[in-house]
Amino acid sequence: MSRKFAAFVATAMALAVVAGSLLVLALGHQRPPRPAAATTTQTTTPPSPTPTETPTAPISSAPPSTPRKPAVDPTAALATGNKKVLFFSFDDGPDPVWTPKILQVLAEHGAHATFFELGAMQAAHPGLREQVLAAGNTIGSHSISHPQLTAVSAAKRHHEIFDGPQSTCFRPPYGASNPQVRADIKAAGMVEVLWDVDPRDWARPGTDAIVHNILTHAHNHNIILMHDGGGNRAQTVAALDKVLPLLKAQGYSFPAMNC
Ligand SMILES: [Zn+2]
Repeated sequence: MSRKFAAFVATAMALAVVAGSLLVLALGHQRPPRPAAATTTQTTTPPSPTPTETPTAPISSAPPSTPRKPAVDPTAALATGNKKVLFFSFDDGPDPVWTPKILQVLAEHGAHATFFELGAMQAAHPGLREQVLAAGNTIGSHSISHPQLTAVSAAKRHHEIFDGPQSTCFRPPYGASNPQVRADIKAAGMVEVLWDVDPRDWARPGTDAIVHNILTHAHNHNIILMHDGGGNRAQTVAALDKVLPLLKAQGYSFPAMNC
């Protein structure tokens, strides 16, 4: 082997090494930094799309702290067959005077109800929420501070719906709703629950007027709106005590909604 030939071989080898390194670098740019062994699984694993898109999309449409639940009718499972049922509901509590009286009347007649509570009232009167639940009733959210949700800022509306009492049912104050309110309720994992019969007990028209209104308007599967908060509810308590046995005699039972 001549010296010239040896020098040529050495140069060629050096060039080959440099070219190989350049090739590796070039390929390294084009391919994802995967080890060679991963090529067998690459066929089954779909190529990962731009990794920044997947996590941000769902988070931006719903706050991460709220669970998403399918929207269901909270009365559906309880209003099946030919069983006669009425759903009593009480708004604006819990109230330290009137909520326990309502609970007592319900218990005396073997009835249950759903209490649409305010976050501010829950905070001001701790323990009442637990009393309501312990007696077999359910709790819906009626917002934190009872604003008209169709007339407040988006931030306020969002706060009142997302940060109010824990429930799967939400009754907007005054029944005031629109697509934005309903979208927030749904995004917070709740369903909107309004009512069928409003005996206007909040206006204190007299115990007999409240009873008569309920007996006249209530039909099977109806939701009845009453109040345990927001003022003196003596007429509400007395009317409930009168109307429950009359409705029971008509064959009705009184379950709490699934909230
Ligand atoms: Zn209310």
